[in-house]
Amino acid sequence: MEGGLRRPIRHTIDWQNSDYYNEELFEKELRRVADACHGCRRCVSLCNSFPTLFDLIDESETFEVDGVNYNQFEKVVDHCYLCDLCFLTKCPYVPPHDWEIDFPHLMLRAKVIRFKKNKTSMRDKVLTSTDLVGKLVSNKILSPIINYLNSHKLFRYFLSFIMSIHIKAKLPKYTNLTAKSEAKNLEYNSSSVNKVAIFTTCYHNYNEPKIINDLSSVLKHNNITVRIIKNEVCCGMPKLELGDLISVQNAMKINATILNRYVIDGYKIIAPVPSCVLMYKQELPLLFPDNIILKKISENIYDPFEYLFMLHKQGELKTDFKNYLGSILYQVACHQRVQNIGLLTKKILELVPKTDVKTIERCSGHDGTYGVKKETHEIAVKIAKPIVSELQKQSYPIFTSDCSLAGNHISNLSDSKVDATHPITLIKNAYGIKNSEYK
Ligand code: SF4
Ligand code: SF4
Repeated sequence: MEGGLRRPIRHTIDWQNSDYYNEELFEKELRRVADACHGCRRCVSLCNSFPTLFDLIDESETFEVDGVNYNQFEKVVDHCYLCDLCFLTKCPYVPPHDWEIDFPHLMLRAKVIRFKKNKTSMRDKVLTSTDLVGKLVSNKILSPIINYLNSHKLFRYFLSFIMSIHIKAKLPKYTNLTAKSEAKNLEYNSSSVNKVAIFTTCYHNYNEPKIINDLSSVLKHNNITVRIIKNEVCCGMPKLELGDLISVQNAMKINATILNRYVIDGYKIIAPVPSCVLMYKQELPLLFPDNIILKKISENIYDPFEYLFMLHKQGELKTDFKNYLGSILYQVACHQRVQNIGLLTKKILELVPKTDVKTIERCSGHDGTYGVKKETHEIAVKIAKPIVSELQKQSYPIFTSDCSLAGNHISNLSDSKVDATHPITLIKNAYGIKNSEYK
């Protein structure tokens, strides 16, 4: 952490106040922050937002922020995918510092204003409707057709032309055997006091349900009651990144009622995508600070390895590993890093004998949508380069990331032929658990 010495404070997001949408006030704040960043430049290597900002300033007539036209800042906003790294790992000027710099939430405000002005593209609205697309496609008829088309060059030219999806971006596969449709096989009753309700996440429910199966298997192995949450909707992170706060609010209302029932019944909630956990731990409570139910949910939602580590500390995690894992390259996903929980995935993986985990704390650049858009895919490839180089240089037999999208993005770019394996699958393999409803 390069930031200030005092623990950062995050102010609530005042999006229900009309001043939040006042562009004069926003521009004033934007220029104030841009000026601080111009003098500091610590974040230049984090993403493409900062180099874009600095280029705008350096190429302006005055070489200062006042030489940049307000509309030109749009480009800076386009390159921010709210990874939060600048706020939580770099900036010494975040609150409680007097300058009160919160660059990600400034970018969020810009996105919200843009969305309100109806300037958001149809492509971006579709890409962030993960639940809607998943529900439409994840059936016996459409999923094989879409999977075939998405890997077909001609169709990808067509998709690039009509939707501006980059032709080289690997798109996730859909399945009709979603985690929720297989819930009966994944749930488990135990007499133990430990109970977990799995928030399957859009990605793992519709695209990679095997990870939910593996998570469930690891929990069952530790004699934990498992439930699959079935009627919830997307956590809202994709819509947050779009600036569509009304959709975020609608999803929050549906989910709060459902998740709260599990919390009341003594369940801990686990989501195997760091962004979804971060949404409940940080973003939703900042957007709806008076919502007591949300606060209770945020105190009871866990990253899978945060939960396993908690069990370990209580002496309740089984360590009867039958297989060793060997040498692993582990990419720490940004949205897990900014949860400030520490390297708990590494700690749990290293409980397995003869296992050595090398961490790499670099952004993958994927962000769910940034890595597939025509105009940003190449930049996402560039951002992932240091991780890809490390993977290729050292020939690690195993590569892992808590974020499957990030992991797949990196392994797709690598010549090493090492597929990304989710760390929960590695733990399942180490236990020697054979059952797998999913291929
Ligand atoms: S939140 Fe992430 S993507 Fe946005 S400006 Fe900060 S480091 Fe860049
Ligand atoms: S966000 Fe903070 S650390 Fe980053 S460039 Fe701006 S002032 Fe510097």
